[in-house]
Amino acid sequence: MSNTSDEKPLGSAQTRQGARSPAPHNSSGTSGPVRLSGIVEESCVDGPGIRFVVFAQGCRHRCPACHNPQTHPFEGGFPTDGEEIMRRMAANPLLDGITLSGGDPFEQADAFAALAEKARERGYDVVTYTGWRYEEILLRGEQGWRRLLESTDILVDGRFELTLESDLLPFRGSSNQRLIDVPRSLESGRLYQIYTNQTRERKARS
Ligand code: SF4
Repeated sequence: MSNTSDEKPLGSAQTRQGARSPAPHNSSGTSGPVRLSGIVEESCVDGPGIRFVVFAQGCRHRCPACHNPQTHPFEGGFPTDGEEIMRRMAANPLLDGITLSGGDPFEQADAFAALAEKARERGYDVVTYTGWRYEEILLRGEQGWRRLLESTDILVDGRFELTLESDLLPFRGSSNQRLIDVPRSLESGRLYQIYTNQTRERKARS
């Protein structure tokens, strides 16, 4: 990926101390089916390259002017499993990866982690969108959240902030949201952001 990285020690990052929220809707236990509000089979705007996008059903952040309010209720949507999604992805040889959007995939962390792991086994990269910040996810310390983080290549984090909205930002809606190189950040214990102007970068699959 052609980009520059911004390195920050995690100790100086903007962690919202004391902002830990109640446990997510379904973050622990089984890795059953994911509950989705929708699927877009081919997208160029939800991460680098050409992507299969699944939208989680359920989000507690309620950002003002959210573009996907239909994803907020935890009821509704439809269940599907990873094998069905892999089958649909396999039909398109142009795909670079899968994007987990929402809603908030961290509300169904184990199920989305299992989906992300399946996608990686098949050589796809994984972009995950969440209203939580990277530091909050680390602080949560829950196994399912950690598992989903560890199966993500790029995390787009933070709530959508209407006052910071811009159409010029690749892959995100407001400037407070960050594109985070998760493997590098987890390995180093420092926060690495990704900056790119390219929207059609391709990543070779094995
Ligand atoms: S986190 Fe995303 S889906 Fe949830 S309210 Fe905010 S913008 Fe909407």
